[in-house]
Amino acid sequence: MSGNDAFDLVVIGAGPGGYAAALRAAQLGLKTACIEKEKRLGGTCLRIGCIPSKALLESSHKFTETAGGLAEHGIKVKDPGLDLAAMHRRKDGIVEQLTGGIDGLFKQHKVSRYVGTGRLDGPGRVVVAAADGGETALKAKSVILATGSQPADLTGVKRDGRIVGDSTTALAYAEVPKHLVVIGAGYIGLELGSVWKRLGAKVTVVEYLDRILPGTDGEIAREALRIFKKQGLEFVLGARVTGAKVGGPGEGSYATVTIEGRDPLEADRVLVAVGRRPFTSDLGLETVGVTPDDRGFLTVDADFQTTAPGVYALGDVIGGPLLAHKATDEGVACAERLAGHAGYVDRSIIPGVCYTEPEIATVGRTEEQLREAGVKFRKGVYPFRANGRALALGHIDGRVKILADAGTDRLLGVHIIGPRAGDLIAEATAAMAYGASSEDLALVCHAHPTLSEVVKEAALATFDRPLHG
Ligand code: NAD
Repeated sequence: MSGNDAFDLVVIGAGPGGYAAALRAAQLGLKTACIEKEKRLGGTCLRIGCIPSKALLESSHKFTETAGGLAEHGIKVKDPGLDLAAMHRRKDGIVEQLTGGIDGLFKQHKVSRYVGTGRLDGPGRVVVAAADGGETALKAKSVILATGSQPADLTGVKRDGRIVGDSTTALAYAEVPKHLVVIGAGYIGLELGSVWKRLGAKVTVVEYLDRILPGTDGEIAREALRIFKKQGLEFVLGARVTGAKVGGPGEGSYATVTIEGRDPLEADRVLVAVGRRPFTSDLGLETVGVTPDDRGFLTVDADFQTTAPGVYALGDVIGGPLLAHKATDEGVACAERLAGHAGYVDRSIIPGVCYTEPEIATVGRTEEQLREAGVKFRKGVYPFRANGRALALGHIDGRVKILADAGTDRLLGVHIIGPRAGDLIAEATAAMAYGASSEDLALVCHAHPTLSEVVKEAALATFDRPLHG
């Protein structure tokens, strides 16, 4: 074992939570190290999640638009073709640029980077195990565990990483599948299912629940289902997948997916997207007396400290919404607290965005959650089809739905399905962060013609009536 470098802070994991914590701590003057086992920094989000999937979503959207959506604009296109290898190269280039950017920021702010697997080795000590077997010992006043999550397994389904795979596999198919079966109608299943449907695959989404997008406002999810069906995605709802194995027609190039009480499905590609589980194995947790909860998550207090003094955790590994921006905000808040500042994350207003077409974005509580909690609320809904900018764009599907307290008018939840919903939700999130009412939102001047006017009209509809309705 070599080394014995001493740091104020050692961060294990360089995803959006870990790298943000390391950067912010270094900016605030803490001597900081970050350990990452992958060659590239940025974690699941930058390497094999948010960023590459958004690159493919954008490219595949342009492909469908060019192949059939431009005629109504009076634009004729002859025989558009698909160069999938070029599409993947573009995606890989974006990943390289962004992950390289984190390297640059680490150098700029003097974060010491260690390549290898980090593990706790008793209080104040961390060991970095390199791939070649070498080990380096570090001393740390504080340690942040930001190890993230990995795709959850499904009993009876064996992923071979080629025909039956997870999101990482589905981001890199070398050919467009003939029939892709997606298990799970969450964000991953719907985003990647959309990509391959747009590029020409038949896509069947099998979902255990009788609805898609678990946890999303029911009215919005129903509208999403209607739109996705119109786009040609096929759904088998209320159906539990019990197994998937390679075999069937075409021998080793097909898989059979078995579903409880229904006929099996044959597919040349299967995407397992049934959630993610926290990554806590081989972290040396026992050396500091930390035990994950029943679901494998680490429990922390308001300072992000685990039950072990000086050992902190944040991001996917502590649960809550498994979202990059939630992890980043936690990383920044934790670093600020360690440096003596007052970092804080309001977990009740973390926005969520599903980057399908149209996008689905949500913040705060759903109608179902409010009903269950017995909260009296008023609801304002306004459709995109009545908005001039949406008509000009040719993207008129969807609506904005605003839920406000019946007594105080305070905003409780905003749910959007429609063009650029992911950008529009920022206004609602900011308003909620400032404790705004729906009247506050409606009184703000919104530029014309913009999609944001739909937010204003929905806010008006909550306590009065929309101007154009
Ligand atoms: P998810 O938990 O959102 O959805 C999984 C779905 O699989 C659920 O609807 C569940 O009912 C279903 N399911 C489970 N077992 C099944 C079975 N045996 N048969 C049929 N269906 C079954 O999980 P995900 O889509 O894998 O996403 C994982 C995490 O990553 C989520 O927390 C998500 O928020 C996050 N993520 C976010 C984004 C984004 O922000 N745009 C994108 C991708 C992933």
